[in-house]
Amino acid sequence: MNEEFFADKTVLVMGLGRFGGGVDVARFAANSGAKVIVTDLASRRQLSDSISQLAEFSDIEYHLGSHDPADFEQADIIVANPAVAPDTEFLELARRHNKFVTSQINIFFELCPAQIIGITGANGKSTTAALTAHLLKNAGEAKVWLSGNIGNEPLLTIMDQISPDDLVVLELSSFQLEQLAQIQKGPKVALLTNLTPNHLDRYGTFADYCAAKENIFRFQKPDDKFPAVSIFNAEDKVGAAWFDKYEKDTGRICITFSADDISEQIRKSFPLPGRANLSNLAAAMAVARHFGIDDGQLKTSLPQFRGLPHRLELVAKINGVSWYNDSKATTPESAIAALEAFEQPTIIIAGGYDKNVAFDELGRNIAESAKSAILLGQTAPKVASAIRNGKMSLRAKRSNLKKRDTKIEIVDSLSGAVQLANKLAESGDVVLLSPACASYDMFDNFEHRGRQFCELVKQIKN
Ligand code: ADP
Repeated sequence: MNEEFFADKTVLVMGLGRFGGGVDVARFAANSGAKVIVTDLASRRQLSDSISQLAEFSDIEYHLGSHDPADFEQADIIVANPAVAPDTEFLELARRHNKFVTSQINIFFELCPAQIIGITGANGKSTTAALTAHLLKNAGEAKVWLSGNIGNEPLLTIMDQISPDDLVVLELSSFQLEQLAQIQKGPKVALLTNLTPNHLDRYGTFADYCAAKENIFRFQKPDDKFPAVSIFNAEDKVGAAWFDKYEKDTGRICITFSADDISEQIRKSFPLPGRANLSNLAAAMAVARHFGIDDGQLKTSLPQFRGLPHRLELVAKINGVSWYNDSKATTPESAIAALEAFEQPTIIIAGGYDKNVAFDELGRNIAESAKSAILLGQTAPKVASAIRNGKMSLRAKRSNLKKRDTKIEIVDSLSGAVQLANKLAESGDVVLLSPACASYDMFDNFEHRGRQFCELVKQIKN
């Protein structure tokens, strides 16, 4: 594939979306000389932001509100959004008509001239990807790009500016990795932060979810210039098992990392809270060391790393109460990691869209360590019942529940949650929005939820 591949073809962009991916594809195809049709189940109004970003391309046709089978029979190339399952009926139809079905990530992997460092996992992907890019950038050896699921820079729009000696750090979602299986390509350096059940609404089983994630390692190949490097978390069950499996493959370098391996000196220069972030640091350091960066350089650049918004972000300290926005915690494990980051009495605000994952361990953790749980969204009753079960099992173990008999409250809005938290919190407490769930039941996305939380907290402050 090269850029000319799109010239004079009819390209159907399936799923414009609101996060920039579809806009990036449509722009790339239009600039490559293709006739572009955009189709999306959402309406023109819902997509107005994305459509306005394509205003300069007046030839783009929009077929919105539904998908028309005729588009899939007539286009030459279909570029599917990662949110579209590969076996959806419209893509099957296109394949039956011998159409070329691809995706933004596949086009990028086909055309990118530089080494790609791919980062995936259930939790900590964005932080690890951003931290890795920060360490590589500060070492100053190469130009470094940060993109992929993290959405900083649109993949195909930056392609022209990437040189062969640059380094491209990509956060890769399981959906993007599923798409990469079609072209059997993987990054030169691949890293798994950790793996626990997630997105079971789409995958059904943990095994299927793991199979999608494993694509990051499965298709890695060395070439004349660069080895294939696979990096695993020694503390993660799946990561450790995959290390054993891939270590036997002599064609690649396998490396493990662990939060325990970080020296006291490095730890002191790292500004992010919690042990989970030490795991992310160990992961990023494994990549940095592979590229020849030494501990002296790491120690100098680490203090300048600012965490990403919506990840254990301190919003405000009001009357001695610290308010944290961890809206990006969309899995039970990430909310557990957030709870572990604080020793202070904590009021957690949790619940959201139901991805069909289990909350038992989260319930136990909340029962054990939170002072109150304020729950909202679709999963509120499930999380409440997991906390009640957690309390029961603590009682059965005769643990001292007295000092932490977690209060459980269900509310119907984020504003209600913040008001109640404000009422319950005492000086020295932490109020932590760490929902353990995606946000789609009540918000556009986790950023929307996080921004609203920050606004509500500011209102209290004023
Ligand atoms: P992802 O991109 O995988 O969603 P992020 O780096 O955006 O991960 O972090 C999302 C949330 O997950 C954070 O707000 C934090 O609560 C939690 N978290 C971060 N790193 C880890 C980790 N290594 N293990 C478990 N939870 C984590």
